[in-house]
Amino acid sequence: MALLLRELEYVRPDSLEDAVRLLSELPDAGLLAGGQSLINVLKMRIGGYSTLIDISRLRELKAIEVGEKSLRVGAGVTYDELMHSMEVSLHRPTLVDVVGRIADPQVRNRGTLGGNCCYNDPTCHLPPILTAIGTVFEARGSHGTRMIPASEFFVSYYQTSLGPGEMLVALHVPKLKSRSGDGFVPLSVGGTDVLNIIAGAATVTLAEEGGIEEVVIVVTGASERPIRLESVEEGLKGTAGQPDDADRAFSLLDLALLDPPDDVHASAEYRRDMVPVFTRRALEQAMKNARRGIHD
Ligand SMILES: Cc1cc2nc3c(=O)[nH]c(=O)nc-3n(C[C@H](O)[C@H](O)[C@H](O)COP(=O)(O)OP(=O)(O)OC[C@H]3O[C@@H](n4cnc5c(N)ncnc54)[C@H](O)[C@@H]3O)c2cc1C
Repeated sequence: MALLLRELEYVRPDSLEDAVRLLSELPDAGLLAGGQSLINVLKMRIGGYSTLIDISRLRELKAIEVGEKSLRVGAGVTYDELMHSMEVSLHRPTLVDVVGRIADPQVRNRGTLGGNCCYNDPTCHLPPILTAIGTVFEARGSHGTRMIPASEFFVSYYQTSLGPGEMLVALHVPKLKSRSGDGFVPLSVGGTDVLNIIAGAATVTLAEEGGIEEVVIVVTGASERPIRLESVEEGLKGTAGQPDDADRAFSLLDLALLDPPDDVHASAEYRRDMVPVFTRRALEQAMKNARRGIHD
């Protein structure tokens, strides 16, 4: 049976201001960005809208600006545009690597950072790494603009903290500090990057003498939202970050506190067991990148 879209209205506003206004005025309207997830959802009739507001050509959502401490990346920037951004390569190179691993060129040409985050599929690449590096989300609605830290943006499966009539306009990505590095290691169905069962992400800043000064470790697929492994982070701080330091720190992780899903792709038990394996690999990758010391 062919999957067909239900008939619906389509509008393509010329400005961000018009898009925000239409989103709050039109009943049951939804935003269309790259359409890589939404069109499938509509075809499968899992969800539906009366009107689609196409934001894919809004210039205001396309800019990548370099600030003193962070990059402001428009929500409408596609994966492909991000991969070719000199600014992002220079200031947060891991993001370029992570989006380059998403699907295939067709998806990367259309899919947007905003769409990936707002869809918030637990298998998506961006929520774990954006949470680990401390991204702040800029949302706009008829009542104005508000800033939402990643720890509050991703609420649950396919849910974010955006309110009705509110849209994501930009992501504020902290620039990589000196002696710092990021890591991202997913466990995927079939061993490729397609459909991440769990994904570990980490960022590390080393002290001048080489020990761990700051560390954030995040996992997705182990709970309804990206979660930080705070006990492990505490165990690592101030250590030299050697394998036995990591052994001791990861022994502090209470796997019983995780609440992973149990589905056709992996059992909850398997996911739980894989959390220390893949978060540790992400940590090791972050340490390696930080020690390389190329981001002064
Ligand atoms: C074959 C295939 C393979 C894929 N593989 C992967 C993969 O390996 N890893 C991965 O991470 N993703 C993968 N995806 C998903 C892909 O990354 C999507 O592009 C992404 O999930 C959604 O981005 P989009 O711009 O297409 O958003 P859309 O599909 O247009 O929108 C998705 C949702 O976000 C909302 N939305 C979009 N923009 C905004 C905004 N600015 N403000 C508020 N709400 C907004 C929409 O209303 C909709 O609800 C894959 C998709 C396909 C088709």
